Amino acid sequence: MTADLEDFRAETRAWLEANCPAEMREPMRSEKDACWGGRHFVFQSPAQKQWLQVMAARGWTVPDWPKEYGGGGLTAAETKILKEEMAAIGARPPLTSFGISMLGPALLKFGTDEQKKHYLGQIAHGEIRWCQGYSEPGAGSDLAGLQTRAEDAGDHYVVNGQKVWTSYADEADWIFCLVRTSTESKHGGISFILFDMESPGVSTRPILLISGNSPFCETFFDDVKVPKDQVVGEVNKGWDVAKYLLGHEREMISGMGLGGERQALGAAVGPIDDPLLRAEIAAFDVDALAFAAMSERFIDQLKAGESHPGFPSVMKYAGTELNKRRHELIMAAGGSDALEWESDRSGGGKRPRDWLRTKANSIEGGTSEIQLGIVAKHILRLPGA
Ligand SMILES: Cc1cc2nc3c(=O)[nH]c(=O)nc-3n(C[C@H](O)[C@H](O)[C@H](O)COP(=O)(O)OP(=O)(O)OC[C@H]3O[C@@H](n4cnc5c(N)ncnc54)[C@H](O)[C@@H]3O)c2cc1C
Repeated sequence: MTADLEDFRAETRAWLEANCPAEMREPMRSEKDACWGGRHFVFQSPAQKQWLQVMAARGWTVPDWPKEYGGGGLTAAETKILKEEMAAIGARPPLTSFGISMLGPALLKFGTDEQKKHYLGQIAHGEIRWCQGYSEPGAGSDLAGLQTRAEDAGDHYVVNGQKVWTSYADEADWIFCLVRTSTESKHGGISFILFDMESPGVSTRPILLISGNSPFCETFFDDVKVPKDQVVGEVNKGWDVAKYLLGHEREMISGMGLGGERQALGAAVGPIDDPLLRAEIAAFDVDALAFAAMSERFIDQLKAGESHPGFPSVMKYAGTELNKRRHELIMAAGGSDALEWESDRSGGGKRPRDWLRTKANSIEGGTSEIQLGIVAKHILRLPGA
């Protein structure tokens, strides 16, 4: 650790101490405590709004993005220190956003200068909330089979088709969307396009999940006009952008393996009489520590551009399977109490709802089977994979 980094740590600690409101250091009670930003976002409290504003003003909602695009311009080592210091005081993320975790990195790599200037600052400040229009009723694992069409109409495209499982489509302001601009080649005829969800012809229909929440939608496009300068990357080469973005999505989802808790599971669930369950929880905590170490190395390599392109799949698989195991153990440790669904003392059934939600972890962002297929083919180079 150089003297400069020690100074940076001390300054960061002091700044966070002075600027992070006490309420924003309390653990999040549910997904509803996350700040998603966007045109229609209703802040839960003045503290939540203030935390977003001070962090965005410093560029620390996206600390490692360049300053000219609303970022903090921090090096990888400084970004890590900021993360550690935030974790040390239990600071909540000031902004949770698909713009930050998915679209931003793709724009930084494939966007034009105008696109970067226009969209990245809005993302950094939480002004626009994004959703992801990839999956379709006939194109999930086989994503390149997508059929939503964008027809050339001179200075704009006309988009027709349907997406499905679009998380928060009913709350998002804009969508990043995969569309077919040519039928000549399966992967070669896809383009990556951005548009406003308030455009005429866009409609959404929420789908109810087993956990009782309804975070995602069917999304329909009927003759939606999209200006041509809203294509990211080259026309018909959107598959490259899509794959790059998926790597970042899988990195984000793999973070579920870290659990977002400051305590080990053994400490969180308290004393357990059953020795077999106790041993399972201890084994889980050891695996969780190993995963945290692996995750730190992965993020360092990813930020340095040195990660193997197949490695996000390793992390996505490991992280989501670990998170599912965590919630199975929480349910087992809770006994019949853990099944309470509505009562106040169960926080409106937080435990079983969180457990049921984890069932989707190994589907969203590409299923576990698909990740294992990628690992077999691109990392292990198994014959026939
Ligand atoms: C909570 C949640 C949020 C989501 N949010 C979004 C979103 O915001 N935007 C978006 O575009 N999509 C989203 N999705 C969709 C997600 O990306 C797809 O569900 C996923 O890619 C799987 O596609 P599918 O559901 O069509 O399943 P299918 O592709 O039909 O797969 C069905 C089963 O077959 C298996 N299978 C398929 N092909 C193979 C193969 N080649 N080898 C081995 N097994 C295979 C799969 O593993 C799976 O078990 C979300 C999904 C969930 C659960």
